[in-house]
Amino acid sequence: MNGIVISDIDDTLIKADPGDIGIWKYKDGKETRLSTEEFAKDPDKDDPTVKFDYREFNEPKKVRDSIINGTPLLKNLKIIDRYLNKGYDFTFLTARGAEDIIKDVMADFMKYRDETGHLQQIGAKFKDTLSYAVNDEKYCEIFDGIKDFDRKAKVIKMIAEMYDDCIFLDDDTRNLVAVKRLNLPNVKVIRAMKESTSEHHNERGHHVDQNVSSRAHKLHQIQ
Ligand SMILES: [Mg+2]
Repeated sequence: MNGIVISDIDDTLIKADPGDIGIWKYKDGKETRLSTEEFAKDPDKDDPTVKFDYREFNEPKKVRDSIINGTPLLKNLKIIDRYLNKGYDFTFLTARGAEDIIKDVMADFMKYRDETGHLQQIGAKFKDTLSYAVNDEKYCEIFDGIKDFDRKAKVIKMIAEMYDDCIFLDDDTRNLVAVKRLNLPNVKVIRAMKESTSEHHNERGHHVDQNVSSRAHKLHQIQ
């Protein structure tokens, strides 16, 4: 039997600092930079006369920093560990763009905790060729007019043909529903938990090490 964990990134593997990647807004001749949180609540989001620019989502350094500086969501990482320790492969499925940058970041930084409690490099368990950032510009034609949740569902359907058991981990209800609707017997849908409390950091150890002051270092312990 072969299995794979297909995991979302934001609010699933990590909670990114909302200011790390900004969205530029152009309204009434004025330019403002919004955090991802501000953008999510922006009242002009559906106003066609207001322009939004997502260029920071393609800036390698910003993309990289937004992931490696993010707060690891340990509850979800623990779920992933459990499957990886059973021999499952790992892949990411995100609504972000900049797929190649994210693949590099994951290959460099993603770790898991083995059964003896030691952190291991993800190594060959990471299947980068099956990892997708569905808003990457290279997909703009094939996914034209398709909503993010349906893009994700299409990817899952394709991967499900290659594995006996697929675990889809995501925090967004729309994604979970879209994948459930595929009704594939070999796909299990798991809702990711958004919050990671300091308690969980403690439980997991390492994270609260006093010497760990650099946020980048924290990600080395992401799992
Ligand atoms: Mg998410």
